[in-house]
Amino acid sequence: MKKRIALMGIYHESNTFVPQKTTLEHFMGGRYYKGKKIYKEYQNAHHEIGGMIEMLDRDDFELLPIFYAEATPGGPITSDTYEKMRQDLMKELEKVLPVDGILVVPHGAGVSDIHRDMDGHWLSELRNKVGLEIPIVGTLDLHANVSPLMVSSTDALVSYRQNPHVDQRQRGREAANLLIKRLNHEVALSQVLIQVPVAISIEQQLTASEPCKSLYAFAEECKKEGNILSISIQLGFPYADVEEMGTSVIVVSDGDPDLAMEIAQKIENYILDRKQSFVGEMLDVTAVIPKIEKSEKPVLLLDMGDNIGGGGPGNNICIMEALEKDGRYPYFVCIYDPEAVLTLQNQNRNEFSEIQITGVNGRGSVQYTIHAKLVQLTDGNFHEESPRHGGQVNYKMGNTAIVETQNGSVIMLTSKRTPPFSLQQLMAFEIDPVQFDVIVAKGVNAPIAAYAPVCPTVYQVNTPGVTQADMTMFNFDHRRIPLFPFEK
Ligand SMILES: [Zn+2]
Repeated sequence: MKKRIALMGIYHESNTFVPQKTTLEHFMGGRYYKGKKIYKEYQNAHHEIGGMIEMLDRDDFELLPIFYAEATPGGPITSDTYEKMRQDLMKELEKVLPVDGILVVPHGAGVSDIHRDMDGHWLSELRNKVGLEIPIVGTLDLHANVSPLMVSSTDALVSYRQNPHVDQRQRGREAANLLIKRLNHEVALSQVLIQVPVAISIEQQLTASEPCKSLYAFAEECKKEGNILSISIQLGFPYADVEEMGTSVIVVSDGDPDLAMEIAQKIENYILDRKQSFVGEMLDVTAVIPKIEKSEKPVLLLDMGDNIGGGGPGNNICIMEALEKDGRYPYFVCIYDPEAVLTLQNQNRNEFSEIQITGVNGRGSVQYTIHAKLVQLTDGNFHEESPRHGGQVNYKMGNTAIVETQNGSVIMLTSKRTPPFSLQQLMAFEIDPVQFDVIVAKGVNAPIAAYAPVCPTVYQVNTPGVTQADMTMFNFDHRRIPLFPFEK
């Protein structure tokens, strides 16, 4: 008899400092899939679900993808939205019960109005539903803020080890493999969690660079000890005012919790000893502009305060304003401005005029006027086949207008917030990235996977906003105490 495995997930990174809530509309306009649709979307994607599908494609197992919802990172999820997703997930599960095992795809930094530890909540509901005998194994984002409830509700969780997250498919395979081994009685899964009293700045979370490069290498060394099956270090997502915000370590062992705890403590001490190195440099836009002249071009300027992948609105114009004021460098920037897109629908092409852009600049909402011509109107759909952060294949920016200034700068205006995870965002619309001196991307590390092949120089720019680099600028009421860098 084939062993039946249900696959499901609710995936959201919620920024509690964003005033706009995330609603059902955001999930419906993002990803809200049941059954076969999940297979179709992710089978070949560089996404953890793709890796899970690949591993379970064997005669002795039957994979049953039942429910998967994901929305672009944003504000906390409304109670109604979470309730609807939770109920749909449970309804779909009912249809396929009984199952032998479950694969889960939480993000690990989801916050809903009703349940602040949203992932802990639905995972614990799942555990209550199927009981302790059915193993639950899954993946987490490297930015997960992991709660004890998430860990006690599952048998094993494996988080991404690369940022940008180009290893999502690999981690999906790793999680599925652990479940297969457990169901074949080859291992006894047992996991421990340590919440480290350190919150790591997003600016220092590039895993190919120090200090994270050595941290992950250290974890690899630790894995060589005895019965250790998996080690995950969650660097954490600082823009969530929840108790579990911060860095954490999960160690999964083959029935050896003492050894797992010993290793988790070793990694915790490693981080504590180096905590100062996890504070960012925080370079302001005024300090970055003078560096462009002598830098090899195109220069990638990462807009840290408007990190769409961290809940940023996608319409911070601080860097654009500074580049326009300087005037020397043709640049590319993508800005979320549905109103401008609507206005431009009736505009003549290739005629210069004053175009109004609505955005924010750290001092509030602003109208910015730019002298430019409309060059293209599109539906904003594009595809990405390569391994890129997020692991998505199909992108939908909504109706999109592309305008060009007199010095050759190109501004892409979209009707949906779209994180800059793919160079296809330019190439699919015949925009050649190398024609610019500067490319502005609204992110911190994630866009590097897409832009490193064309941008020899990269600067992370400390701009204001809901994802600004200095987390100590936000007011937290629920975070754990002590937590570095809030407490020294
Ligand atoms: Zn992440």
